[in-house]
Amino acid sequence: MGMVKLTIDGRDVSVPDTSTILQAANSAGIRIPTLCFHERLKPIGACGLCIVKIEGHSTPLSACETLVTEAMSVTTQSARLAAMRRDSLRAMLVNHPLDCPICDKAGDCRLQDLVYEHGIVGVEAQPPTSKFTSGYSTAFIRSWPERCVLCLRCVTACTEIQGIGALSITAGPDGPRITYDRDKCVLCGECIQMCPVGALTEKRSGLRWRTWEIERKVRTTCPYCGVGCQQLLHVKDGKVVKVSGVEDAVPNVGRLCVKGRYGFDFIDHPDRLRTPLIKEKGVFREASWDEALDLVARRLRSIQETSGPDALALFSSARATNEENYLMNKLARVVLGTNNIDHCARLCHASTVAGLATSFGSGAMTNSIEELERADVVLVTGSNTSEMHPVISTYIKRGIQSGRTKLIVVDPRHIDLVDRAAVWLRQKPGTDVAWMNGMMQAIIRERLYAAEYVAERTEGFEAMKQLVAKYTPERVEQITGIPKDDLIAAARLYASAPAAAIVYAMGITQHTSGTDAVKSTANLAMLCGNVGIESGGVNPLRGQNNVQGACDMGALPNVFSGYQAVTTPELREKMAQAWNVLELPGKVGLTMLEAMAAAARGEIKGLYIMGENPMMSEPDLHHVEEELKSLDFLVVQDIFLTETARLADVVLPAACFAEKDGTFTNTERRVQLLRKVVEPPGQARPDWEILCAVATRLGYPMHYPDAAAVFDEMAALTPSYAGMDYRRLAAGGLQWPCPSKDHPGTRYLHRDRFARGKGLFSAIEWIPPAETPSEEYPFILTTGRVLYHYHTGGMTRRSAGLNEICPECWVEINPKDARALDIEDGETVSVGTRRGSIRVKAMVGEKTDRNTIFIPFHFWEAAANRLTIAAIDPIAKIPEYKVCAARVEKLKAPNRCGGACH
Ligand code: SF4
Repeated sequence: MGMVKLTIDGRDVSVPDTSTILQAANSAGIRIPTLCFHERLKPIGACGLCIVKIEGHSTPLSACETLVTEAMSVTTQSARLAAMRRDSLRAMLVNHPLDCPICDKAGDCRLQDLVYEHGIVGVEAQPPTSKFTSGYSTAFIRSWPERCVLCLRCVTACTEIQGIGALSITAGPDGPRITYDRDKCVLCGECIQMCPVGALTEKRSGLRWRTWEIERKVRTTCPYCGVGCQQLLHVKDGKVVKVSGVEDAVPNVGRLCVKGRYGFDFIDHPDRLRTPLIKEKGVFREASWDEALDLVARRLRSIQETSGPDALALFSSARATNEENYLMNKLARVVLGTNNIDHCARLCHASTVAGLATSFGSGAMTNSIEELERADVVLVTGSNTSEMHPVISTYIKRGIQSGRTKLIVVDPRHIDLVDRAAVWLRQKPGTDVAWMNGMMQAIIRERLYAAEYVAERTEGFEAMKQLVAKYTPERVEQITGIPKDDLIAAARLYASAPAAAIVYAMGITQHTSGTDAVKSTANLAMLCGNVGIESGGVNPLRGQNNVQGACDMGALPNVFSGYQAVTTPELREKMAQAWNVLELPGKVGLTMLEAMAAAARGEIKGLYIMGENPMMSEPDLHHVEEELKSLDFLVVQDIFLTETARLADVVLPAACFAEKDGTFTNTERRVQLLRKVVEPPGQARPDWEILCAVATRLGYPMHYPDAAAVFDEMAALTPSYAGMDYRRLAAGGLQWPCPSKDHPGTRYLHRDRFARGKGLFSAIEWIPPAETPSEEYPFILTTGRVLYHYHTGGMTRRSAGLNEICPECWVEINPKDARALDIEDGETVSVGTRRGSIRVKAMVGEKTDRNTIFIPFHFWEAAANRLTIAAIDPIAKIPEYKVCAARVEKLKAPNRCGGACH
């Protein structure tokens, strides 16, 4: 890239030769009026306002579209240009009603500002013509077509940024018009964020505000999935009334999904817990903080003294901040003297931590989200990325749209990304190790692998090669159902790419062979030299906002923060010194499911749960309920009275993400700030303050002036976070490892060497799932999440709009299976397994293959986890949520409850 010198309004300007005149002017502080232009979009050139005079050209040209050239002379202001701009604005106003007093955009409207700036008066709007009659309204967005100025920002953003294409421009009798396709729309709100006028407005029933009434816009981190999108929370009268994306910040660069933009009703929902609760004779009563904390401390201490520290267990939270998880780890190990601490990573990515740590020496996403847009091949498996991690899917879609990226999808369901894939392999659930072995067999047989890389940077290749030799395409087809030619095509495509990224999520991890499948992804990536390079790698997408951070902070039974093993005496010594205690427990503690089983046996007597809801999230819920009820003492700290909290002896009301400071670590290892935006309801407190109060009452004073001080203590003890502090994080997130204050953070791992030295190939045989279909239970049931809800539904099901769109549970069933069972679309059916049954609506369609059904797990009234099996991966102890045997039955009598009861 060279530099170009030009003059703009007589000033010398030097800019890269790829710049437009508009960019050159901006760099020199010279303002050119624009309306359709937006930094995140390619120039549209629709509004005609950024016209400039270029010496040697008889007619003005658009500054947004015209590239600079050497010695160009540009004039941005003249009487002629001003007159032409006024004409353009008048032409817009003719079709734009001057209803500013009732327009939500008034005061924040680009057209209003430009009209005022150009002194335009006396334009009378014409009656709307047919091109402005295509208005629409959704749960969140209302269109006002008569206000549309056809700047096309919304259409361009929907296609270019989100890769959706729900908005398009079509020809009508009166000229072009915007057309909306509800079936394609994912309600991400990118169009609203882009609309410069009031043609698209937020539809928040019962909540109205003028733009100038917004007191503050506070940047924070989305509380939902592991992408960690940066949001601006707009506050009026102490309440969050709107959310927008932060435009100049990774990982989302302004983008949000429907949950991140509209799923915030829960913050001031009437169901929020406002005061501590103590259960007496089976009924909760309100209590003071002193009373509740005294009781918690007394009961925990009593169990510790009478039954030993390991009669206690603590469940930390992937929803809570790093600081809170760090303190929970400290409360468990220092104050209560047990390593029985775990959190829901056990239920989603424990196999990732175990598998990738074995193969690479680090159990985290190797690369960065934005790199996916530049990958030559992306292989997505076990991840419905468009619904689970919507903003990550936009990077993949943009790469495909640019023509650079080829997509391979390996998934039993016909997910959204399948329609953009070059190859789709539809495997039978639970056969992932087999198809990956098959791909590697083909790659080795055809000598497509990276022999030099394998020789220099890895070990264990020969054993792996010998094992996968058995996985011929024919055999793999038998096991997986994947046609052998498709498997070979995928293998060739993946192996031939200069940079190929593997993206996976719980479809890979939540199996009894989850750790094996994760190691297989590592095998495949190393075989083709794809680890340690930009836009390559193995990229597990973390489901919850801070599941990476909770792992990093040591909310696990075997490690302190930074994966420092509790079994290593030197590390225990280091932590004991820092925490000012004589010794720390060295025996690896119990995982979540082990602790629950121990509760049923009477070995765990006291359980402290922070921000987890095992009564919804664990498999085989009937047993979970029995296990929780067999405890002597259960304390739950949460923002709502969850299904689990209802079983507690004491409930402690916690602040939600918008009511406290802290940090979350997203799926790409990026540590980001969240900031206190509004006050917690009633007496609710941030989790970290509650933990400090409990520890102090237990005789170990924990006092920190703020969350930043907790972070500083943690960073000093955690090598991969050592270079971070709130001041640095305030300037933008940092990706670990960040070992020193001058370290910029790490975009991708294992660049020159693997964290363990050499990458380790594992020779892995495929083993079938714990439960396979039988005559009595002929279907494979698989479970997962959907776009409009999140995890156990506590937050999203308290968002009116999300609930309006997605109010109840369903089972996806293939039309052929439905016909065989005489089941119609929309009919309520019974789905049963060896563990129980639920009633749900049938959604008949091709999304699932024959003999496979899918149920989302967000709905307490039809909890999918009443059906799932508690069989676990022997290494990672993760349950097999993705496969169990089930049956579907037509209900004999009409269902009078009208829906999803059980
Ligand atoms: Fe929030 Fe994830 Fe949506 Fe981003 S993609 S807005 S982090 S839910």
